[in-house]
Amino acid sequence: MTSPASGASSAADYAPIPRSALGPALNEQRYYVGRVERNLYYVTDGVYQSAFLTTRDGVVVFDAPPSIGPNLRRAVDEIAAANGVTNRVTHFVYSHHHADHGGAASLFGGDVIRIGHEETRRLLLRDDDPARPIPEVTFADNYTLEVGGERVELAWRGPNHTPDNIYIHFPGHDTLMFIDVVNAGWVLIYNLNLSEDVIGYMGAPAIALDYPWTHFICGHLGRLATRDDVAVHQQYIADIEASSREALTSIDPIPFYVAAGENFWAGVKAHLDAVTERAAAPVIAKYTGVLAAADIEVFTRTTTFQIMQSLRLDRGVTVSIPVQP
Ligand SMILES: [Zn+2]
Repeated sequence: MTSPASGASSAADYAPIPRSALGPALNEQRYYVGRVERNLYYVTDGVYQSAFLTTRDGVVVFDAPPSIGPNLRRAVDEIAAANGVTNRVTHFVYSHHHADHGGAASLFGGDVIRIGHEETRRLLLRDDDPARPIPEVTFADNYTLEVGGERVELAWRGPNHTPDNIYIHFPGHDTLMFIDVVNAGWVLIYNLNLSEDVIGYMGAPAIALDYPWTHFICGHLGRLATRDDVAVHQQYIADIEASSREALTSIDPIPFYVAAGENFWAGVKAHLDAVTERAAAPVIAKYTGVLAAADIEVFTRTTTFQIMQSLRLDRGVTVSIPVQP
C-alpha cells in the first residue's frame, strides 16, 4: 500500500457526500451483491458495477470490472447456492470494450459463450489484451439472448461513450443496463465520463428513457439508478449546453488574440479558458449539493470544455461578429 502523496486532495477538502448518493455497505470481502429483480443481480465494489442472471441452464454475466475481479465469482457462487441453481457461467456479455468494465472477463474461461457488438470485437482485436477475450458471438444492431427461459435484448443505437457501447434491456426484469453515461446521483468524471462521441453521448439518455424500466444499472457507484437520476443527468447536460452556447456566442475572442500577440496558441488558451469558466461556473454552483462531488470543479469544467468544443465543431456555434457600419 502506498499513502497518498502530500498535496493529494482529502475528503475534508470537499462537501460531504449525501447519503442518497451512496449504495449499500460492502461486506468483508469489499463487495455487495443485491437483487435487482427476480433472478437478476448486480454486484458493486462501491465504484464499479456488473450484473448477472441466474437461470436453470446457467449464469449469464454482464461485464467484469477488474476492480471487482474474483469477488464477482464469489457473488455468483453465493447467490447460486442460496437459490439452489447452477453456478456455471455459460454466457458473458460485454457492454463495451473498455478494460475497466471488461478486464476480468478472462476469469470466466472454458466453454463460456462471449457476446458483444461487432465493433467491440474489432476494438478488442485491436487492443490485444488477454484479459479481455474476443467475443465469438457478435451483432450489428440487435441481438436477443435466450438462456434458461430468460430473455435479454441487446441493442446498438449509435456511438456514445464509445463507438460500441450497447443498451442491455431485461424486459422480464423491468431493468436497463447501460454503462458509463449516467452516474447515479454523482457528477460525471472528466470529459463526459471520458466519452468519445459528444453528440451521441448527449442523446443517449433519451434513448435509455424510451425503454420501459424501473431499475437502471449504470456501471458506476454503489446503488442502482432511477428514472429521476437520468432526468437530473439530462438537466445537468442541458444546463452545460445552454451556458456553453451563451458563453461561446457572447465572449469576443479578438481581445484575447490581440493580448497574446504572435503567440496564437496563447490567444486560443485565454479565449477558450474564459468561455469554459463562464459556462461552467453557474452549473457548478447549481449542482453542488444536488449531484455528489459537483464541487470537484475540474469534472464540470472538463465536461463543459468538451461540450463547448462539440458546439463549435459539430454544431457550428460561434461568436456573432457585429457588422461594421
Ligand atoms: Zn467505458
